[in-house]
Amino acid sequence: MSAVLEEVDRFEPMVKPEQVSGPPRIAGRDSALPAWLVEEREVPERPRFDSAVIIGNGLAALSCAARLARSNSFSGKVVMMGKPPVPSRRLIAGLTLRARSLDYFSACLGISRASFIAELYQGHDREVAALEQRIARYQGTGSGPYTFGKRGMWMSRWNHKGRVVCYGVRNSHLVDTIYRLMDHLDISWVDAKPASISDCRDVAKGHNPIIINATPMPLAGTGVVATKPKNFVVASQMLFSNERQREKGILPPNTSFFTARRRAGRADASVWYPVWDPLSPTASFYGITYRVVKAGEGLYKDAEIDIQTSHLYGLSEALGLSPVDPQETLGTAMVPCSNWNDVHQYTPGYLHLGKLANLGTPIIAGDGMVRAGNAAFVAAEALIAGEEVQPMVSRAVRGWAQRNRLTHHAITSLSLFADLGLRVMPGTALNLIQDFGDTWAGLE
Ligand SMILES: Cc1cc2nc3c(=O)[nH]c(=O)nc-3n(C[C@H](O)[C@H](O)[C@H](O)COP(=O)(O)OP(=O)(O)OC[C@H]3O[C@@H](n4cnc5c(N)ncnc54)[C@H](O)[C@@H]3O)c2cc1C
Repeated sequence: MSAVLEEVDRFEPMVKPEQVSGPPRIAGRDSALPAWLVEEREVPERPRFDSAVIIGNGLAALSCAARLARSNSFSGKVVMMGKPPVPSRRLIAGLTLRARSLDYFSACLGISRASFIAELYQGHDREVAALEQRIARYQGTGSGPYTFGKRGMWMSRWNHKGRVVCYGVRNSHLVDTIYRLMDHLDISWVDAKPASISDCRDVAKGHNPIIINATPMPLAGTGVVATKPKNFVVASQMLFSNERQREKGILPPNTSFFTARRRAGRADASVWYPVWDPLSPTASFYGITYRVVKAGEGLYKDAEIDIQTSHLYGLSEALGLSPVDPQETLGTAMVPCSNWNDVHQYTPGYLHLGKLANLGTPIIAGDGMVRAGNAAFVAAEALIAGEEVQPMVSRAVRGWAQRNRLTHHAITSLSLFADLGLRVMPGTALNLIQDFGDTWAGLE
């Protein structure tokens, strides 16, 4: 066992599996949930729809399907449109999993957070639990060694009362875990890409279905037109092994790391988390580098991605981490940003869950997966209770979107101040925009 893992072994999780039973409490100021969910009242099922068709196979689609299929009203009447998920070693979507996300996924599945963690990490959760996040400004261009300036702590164990703040997970492993945990539920799959609402209605198991689009793209025939994004996020991410981590002395066990620097008016940012991946067992860290770029003629996608990938290699070297099979694990992306405003378009019998959950700038705040879980949970509960689903989801996601907006400005329009803060007092500077609520650790 490596020295780093020996140290990890000394860390005892706050909540032991035997102390937890049943789905977790979802209350907490982050969730802005309908009152009956916060108070954990039993609400009678009185749905306005007799069945559901869900487009997509990601976290939001599966979680929403699981909660609906566990109800008396929708059991046997949930149809998924798309292919069942297939895990891949490549890092295609998010890996920074706020511990809070586990509450929403577990609640949708009707199991405890501890049971979910046990299935997800197969006994490796203590290695990948991040209890704090350290921070430093970096210097480096890709042609020489990368170095770090003054170091600080912006999310400390003290701030989060010793609870696990975050875990590292490959998105497709998380999706696969949820998929396996819902295997017993009566849900059908139709391998088709619907072109309209009527395509969805054709496969429904009722006369009055709710159509839930859990993909980012609008569905034709809903009257919604995709708008041109003003900004994109470019990102590059990969898995790493940690043979030289201790020698460099920057990343202690159970610690994540944020680093950034300003270039041409905006920040090049990067986060690093401990990870466990069953398809890449030698990997113990993941790193991502990212930047918000303006859309338009001046945007050269390949060049921007190349810069992010060269930062990834340079930073990993400085942290004492070595790439694990880049040809199979390296993932790059350019993802459009939207604005943060509530969605006012409304199509009866249709919910664009994928859009509502992901309003704002993706990737930059490690909030995509937690928002997918939150929106899916609220959508399913509102449908079962017979409430107006879109306003309920909008209300739940509003707080997340506004916090996302703050992070966006910190690394774009206000990056001069952020960079100055990083140079002079890195921990304190980022502390100013930290959310001390339950949005990271949750309540357990
Ligand atoms: C590079 C990158 C890094 C990220 N980092 C983080 C992070 O660290 N932490 C975090 O929390 N979030 C992160 N995110 C965001 C996070 O991955 C997403 O917010 C989250 O996965 C959203 O889940 P979802 O289920 O709503 O949608 P998705 O994960 O987008 O799932 C939608 C699924 O639907 C499928 N689909 C698309 N169109 C159709 C169709 N017509 N029919 C059927 N199926 C279809 C897609 O293949 C996809 O599998 C990152 C995203 C990217 C791209």
